[in-house]
Amino acid sequence: MILVTGGAGYIGSHFVLKMLEKGEEVIVFDNLELGHIEIIDKLKKYGKLKFIKGDLKILDDIRGVFLSNKDISSVVHFAAYSQVAESVKHPQKYYYNNVYGTLNLLNAMLEFGVKKIIFSSTAATYGNPKYTPIDENHLQNPINPYGNTKLMIEKIMDDYDKAYGLKSVRLRYFNVAGADSESRIGEWHVPETHLIPNILKADKNKSFKMFGTDYETNDGTCIRDYINIEDLVQAHIKALEYLNKQEITNYFNIGTNGGNSVKEVFNICEQIKGEKIPIEIQQRREGDPAVLVADNTKAKQILNWIPEHDLNYSIKTAYKWENIIK
Ligand code: UDP
Repeated sequence: MILVTGGAGYIGSHFVLKMLEKGEEVIVFDNLELGHIEIIDKLKKYGKLKFIKGDLKILDDIRGVFLSNKDISSVVHFAAYSQVAESVKHPQKYYYNNVYGTLNLLNAMLEFGVKKIIFSSTAATYGNPKYTPIDENHLQNPINPYGNTKLMIEKIMDDYDKAYGLKSVRLRYFNVAGADSESRIGEWHVPETHLIPNILKADKNKSFKMFGTDYETNDGTCIRDYINIEDLVQAHIKALEYLNKQEITNYFNIGTNGGNSVKEVFNICEQIKGEKIPIEIQQRREGDPAVLVADNTKAKQILNWIPEHDLNYSIKTAYKWENIIK
């Protein structure tokens, strides 16, 4: 049985759906602060899912999960706060939730002898890139509290491996995009801060705000590497297989090896929507590097993982989903 923290959120829920479809038994642990009970209710239709509402910041909440479910073999840990700008304003909230919460999870795992974890890390652990595309040997030097929390957890995991034999696979996500191909679930953040849903949600009453057109890129807007949500889920499935077979700690970039500018993303969204989207040019957003593109060679070679869906496909699925949750 797999324990999934944050399984009611965007990325976690897509992973849970695929695991249920594979016939796996899943426990979702989520405090529903950012996740949605409606998503859990929907997921329950697709297999054996047990939902436990609880908070990683409360040690006994997570201990209780292991205490009453002795057959948990591994953990996939999505639960976290993940907004860069918010982390700059409220670092206390980020360190407490992300770092302290993960410590409670790891300590509970050790207490109950569960020694395998897949962890959602991020390109934000690299900071401002020294070269592009970024490979896993690139210096990790985060430029915001969010990236710091994720890097701290990676280091804690290394130390817990050396001392206690806890094995982790850390997936360093680049920009995640799209929704389930059958539109059963999708991206649902309140408030929404991400590029693609914000473009798709814009209308004559609320224009899309483009943050910065004066970057040193071809068209002046930031370049990001957009990885499809279902491809990202496949990376987790491969990572879990790897962890079960090899039982070694490792870390991988999860991206496409290519990037698109904010303007390019905007143009594809207009094309898919088939209408002009109102736009407002604004100042740069704090903490945004000009270019973030993954070198994904390591994941391809070691996990035998290949991303299959392009940005156009991700935006199409995101648009279908937007029309459902509207
Ligand atoms: N962005 C934008 N307007 C928005 C949201 C994002 O111009 O409403 C830009 C943002 O400045 C960045 C890119 O889109 O350059 C991707 O941002 P997002 O928040 O989606 O992901 P992040 O890169 O922060 O993980």
